[in-house]
Amino acid sequence: MPEAPTTCSITNIAALVTNDPAQGDGSPLGIIEDAALVIEGDTVAWVGPTHRAPAADQTHDAGGKAAVPGFVDSHSHLLYAGDRTQEFNARMSGRAYTAGGIRTTVRATREATDEALAATLAAHLREMRAQGTTTVETKSGYGLSPEHEARALRMAARTPGMEEVTYLGAHIVPPEYAADPDAYTALVAGDMLDACAPYARWVDVFCEQGAFDEDQSRTILTAGKAKGLIPRVHANQLTHGPGVQLAVEVGAASADHCTHLTDADVEALAGSSTVATLLPGCEFSTRAVYPDARRLLEAGATVALSTDCNPGSSYTSSMPFCIAIAVREMNMTPDQALWSATAGGAQALRRTDVGRLTPGCRADIALLDAPSHVHLSYRPGVPLVAEVWQAGVRG
Ligand SMILES: [Zn+2]
Repeated sequence: MPEAPTTCSITNIAALVTNDPAQGDGSPLGIIEDAALVIEGDTVAWVGPTHRAPAADQTHDAGGKAAVPGFVDSHSHLLYAGDRTQEFNARMSGRAYTAGGIRTTVRATREATDEALAATLAAHLREMRAQGTTTVETKSGYGLSPEHEARALRMAARTPGMEEVTYLGAHIVPPEYAADPDAYTALVAGDMLDACAPYARWVDVFCEQGAFDEDQSRTILTAGKAKGLIPRVHANQLTHGPGVQLAVEVGAASADHCTHLTDADVEALAGSSTVATLLPGCEFSTRAVYPDARRLLEAGATVALSTDCNPGSSYTSSMPFCIAIAVREMNMTPDQALWSATAGGAQALRRTDVGRLTPGCRADIALLDAPSHVHLSYRPGVPLVAEVWQAGVRG
């Protein structure tokens, strides 16, 4: 007879965010006060008030901490090498950010050994985990040749904890194709896609002036779909552009950045299943205008928050930091920001097993040194994540 999985009851949780409106206070966060959560194997088996908790093999006293679903960081660029400290320093001294800085990282990434790339990825995953992130998406996009893009994606696909992998051959046109960007588009939608598709779930395009235009982006996303990849789009980051409308047109899971939107863009997002993923670390690190989260929420769009962790425009791996900026600078409420950093991110990755703490979900939990999730924005910059449980295992 197979052995029954071990059960563990986490008790004495001051406030448990479930993201299930059927639980607790009935708000979108479904907050249960003085709560317990029972884990069976790697899964949440029960949530409710401590005094009603069923018996379990083990008990873990949360000591009055708040508990939230592990953060879902649905947009990062961790497959890189090199350093761009000087670029940041120069920008903070008055120079504007353009898409061209990516080429610096492409050079360093192509020259890096497999071991160096893997070590950088692993270090960032550890850093994210320590800050409460339990689901991570990351992209290629600093190799920009079939060989280098496939190398990065292969490495990501075999790294433990690296669950969501995106092919971003269309990050920027590399220097060797500067005179013929359409030839590069054909490569990204052809041989490079063939080499990369086995290692990725998603296909992404940087649809932006100086990167890929609407027709080029559509060609690449459509080719990716034909190979079984699901589209996501870097859209409307630096300028108004066609990215959001294209994302909705191709049925993308997410349109990311959404900084410069027309009313028609907002309506298109609100009327679609495409999530608007906002990346305020990017605006923070480039001294740019923040996206208007409230406008999207009031229109009825689904909003996710993510770090966009990358060495050029947003070198933070901290979801709590992004929550704090979203509340202070984008007029999100603390509840909305927490939802967007957990359930919103899960929706942007089309995942139903993470981003919530209800029976049947994966037991990914962040315990906070605070009585409430509101402290994530009330106490910006303070390392409040005290414990992280990943798939039922305390890390
Ligand atoms: Zn990005």
